[in-house]
Amino acid sequence: MTMSEQRLTGPRGGLPHGGQLVDRRLDADEARALGSSRLPSLVLTGAEAADLRALATGAYSPLTGFMGVKEHESVTEQMRLPDGSLWSIPVCLGVPDGVGVDAGRLVLRGEGGDLLGVLEVAEVFERDRQAEAQLVYGTADPEHPGVARVLGAPARAVAGPIQAVVTPLEGPVGARALTPAQTRAAFAERGWSTVVGFQTRNPVHRAHEYLMKCALEMVDGLLLHPLVGPTKEGDVPAEVRMGAYEAVLGYFPPDRVLLAALVAPMRYAGPREAVLHALVRKNYGCTHFIVGRDHAGVGSYYGTFEAQQLLASLDPEELGIIPLCFDNAVYCRRCLSMATAKTCPHPEVDHVALSGTQVRAMLAAGQLPPPEFSRAEVAELLIDASRS
Ligand SMILES: [Zn+2]
Repeated sequence: MTMSEQRLTGPRGGLPHGGQLVDRRLDADEARALGSSRLPSLVLTGAEAADLRALATGAYSPLTGFMGVKEHESVTEQMRLPDGSLWSIPVCLGVPDGVGVDAGRLVLRGEGGDLLGVLEVAEVFERDRQAEAQLVYGTADPEHPGVARVLGAPARAVAGPIQAVVTPLEGPVGARALTPAQTRAAFAERGWSTVVGFQTRNPVHRAHEYLMKCALEMVDGLLLHPLVGPTKEGDVPAEVRMGAYEAVLGYFPPDRVLLAALVAPMRYAGPREAVLHALVRKNYGCTHFIVGRDHAGVGSYYGTFEAQQLLASLDPEELGIIPLCFDNAVYCRRCLSMATAKTCPHPEVDHVALSGTQVRAMLAAGQLPPPEFSRAEVAELLIDASRS
């Protein structure tokens, strides 16, 4: 596609980041040959394996492989790839101490020895993990779960284009792990020209449902797109969450919503990760993206609206997906509806608000939170899970 064609369709055309959906899937024959080859191999962590899959399916378009030193430096310092295009977080592959990597092809394997893919070694470099922590995550505090992963990664990283096996994943969660090409086809089939994406790593309560419904008043369809890759300890497991998302679907017209899973690691990088989440949803075919308070944040590392501000500071044409920024929603007993500070003038005492800690305590005690806070179907699943 030429630049002028791209301009005609504009960001609303739903083009992938960089203009073309990357496809680096290995076919079955190639995979079989590699699996039994004598090429040197490298075992990936769960997070690296999730990144590999995201690279191969085009979820990370225009990336075609793991980053080298130039990309790492440029993304860390400028939030851009060396060619100038927007990219907010390094995607690296660590080489543990004692593992040798030579030029040529490197077979990539899972922790169980299973074949994941292959990398054409372009370079091995020293990854500046301190700079990455400080500039991408805004802190070098090892208590930050994303920073802990960066600082705990090997100092050496291997870079180069990849190809990977993208087979359907097992179980009810895996069955939802659609590729960008699959969600794009589903949107086209349903005739949606505008689609809003909703990222979450948590169960969906009434507040999130409200944000999704507000957005759905304005666009053709909703992609409920929970992240199911490695998250931090204490987060609700993906299998439990998926049941809860399915329960919430009952409150949406079935022809207006698609539930799919995003296999990618959570980085908790706040504003920088909000940009990545937006670009990934652009690749999945979304035209709009919901950004809440402290998007992709953890603890108190990021300001409440920092992610929204960073997205708003970017050139809309370049970003290519429209951020829909929301404040926290609560049920208001006087408005008699869900509301936010933007729409409700009443004091907190009129609001049905619970902290995360309060909700967890209620669920652990087998108590249903008020229906204004959480759907009973969702809460019951969470109660069952917290007791097993
Ligand atoms: Zn009110």
